[in-house]
Amino acid sequence: MIITFNKNLSAQEAAIRSLETILKEHQISYSSYYPSLSNGIRTEIQILSTVEAVIQEKITALVEPVGDVIEHHSPFPRIGIQPAGERFGFEYNGVRFDDDSFHIFAGLCAVDSEQSATTMMAACQAAGLSCTRMGAFKPRTSPYSFQGLGAECLPYVFEAAGKHGIKVIAMEVLDPADIEQIDKILEATGRPTGVMLQIGTRNCQNVALLKAVGAQQEYPVLLKRGFGISLHESLFAAEHIAAAGNCKIIFCLRGVKSIGAAPHRNLVDFGHVSTIKRLTRLNVCADPSHSAGSRAPDIHGLSDIQHVSAQSVIAGANMLLVDFHPEPQKALCDGHQALTIDQLQMFVEDMNLCRETYHKRLALAQRLVQS
Ligand code: PEP
Ligand code: MN
Repeated sequence: MIITFNKNLSAQEAAIRSLETILKEHQISYSSYYPSLSNGIRTEIQILSTVEAVIQEKITALVEPVGDVIEHHSPFPRIGIQPAGERFGFEYNGVRFDDDSFHIFAGLCAVDSEQSATTMMAACQAAGLSCTRMGAFKPRTSPYSFQGLGAECLPYVFEAAGKHGIKVIAMEVLDPADIEQIDKILEATGRPTGVMLQIGTRNCQNVALLKAVGAQQEYPVLLKRGFGISLHESLFAAEHIAAAGNCKIIFCLRGVKSIGAAPHRNLVDFGHVSTIKRLTRLNVCADPSHSAGSRAPDIHGLSDIQHVSAQSVIAGANMLLVDFHPEPQKALCDGHQALTIDQLQMFVEDMNLCRETYHKRLALAQRLVQS
C-alpha cells in the first residue's frame, strides 16, 4: 500500500502525524519519501507490512481528506506509476527536467584535452544548448585503453562550462569517491555549473554505487540501462536509487547486446521510450551514440545516429545524450561514433522538429483517441 498526500497542504501535516502514530501503535513498518513531481514535492508513505482490514479503514478515513490510499502491485513502488498519473519533475541548477522538457546533452564521450572540452562547450553555446556530456572517469573494456583524465580535468571543465553558459554536465561516476571529487572541485571552483551523475551500463547493477547516488540529494542521476539484462532488472536499479532517497532520476536507453545488432554497436532499444513511461514515472533519455555506434552517413548526409535520435524524440524522449568531438579522428575514446561540431546545428534543428512532431502526435491522440 502507498499513501500519497497531495491535497490541502496545511491539513497534511496533522494527518501525517496522526497516521504515523497509528502505524507505530500497530507496529506497521513504513518508509516515507518525497518525490519531486511535475506539480511540486509530495510526501508518499510506503507501507511495508500487511495491514489488517480494520486498521486499513482507519487509515483511509484519516488520509482521504488530504490524499489517497493506493493499493499497488508494482514491483517498483517508488518509480512506478501511481493512479494519479503524475510524473517525476525537478529543477536542477536552473534547468527544468520533466515530461514537458526536452534537452540535448551534446558533448565529449571522454575529455581528452582542455582544448577539446572548451571548443565543445563553445559549440554547444553557439547552438543554444545549456547542457553537455563530459566523461572524466571512463569504464573501459580493456585496462590498456584510455581510462579518462579523472579528477585532474574537472577544474578546467567546470570553469569552461561556467564561461560558456553550460548549466548541467552529464558525467559518469564509477565509484562513490568520484562523487566526492566532483563535489569538492565544484565547490572549489565556485560551482560555475552543475553535474548530473551518470551511472553507466556496466554499473547498472552495482548496488553500492546505486545506493551512493540515491543517498545524496544534491545531484540528479542519469541511469543507463544494463546492456545485458532485462528492462525489468534495469528498472530495479532505478528503484534502488529511489529507495535510497533520490527520485531525481532520468532513465537512459543506450541499446542492448545482441547478435542482431550488427552493423550497429548495440541493438537500438528506443521502442522502450514509451514502455518506460507506461510502467514508471521516470523521464527518459536516449543515447544514440552508444547504441547505433557509427557516424557513417547515408546518401543525404544523415547518420544512423541522427535517424535513431529522431525516432526516440518522436516517441517522447525527454533528453538525448550524444557524442560530438571537435576532431573525432584524434579522440581517445569512441571517436568513430562522435559527430563533428559542424553537424551540431543541423542535429539540434532536426531534433527540435521531431519534438514538435511529438507534440502534434499528442494533440492528435487527444483529439481522436480520447474523444
Ligand atoms: C558513456 O556514455 O560514456 C558510456 C560509457 O556509456 P555506456 O555506459 O552506455 O556504455
Ligand atoms: Mn563512449
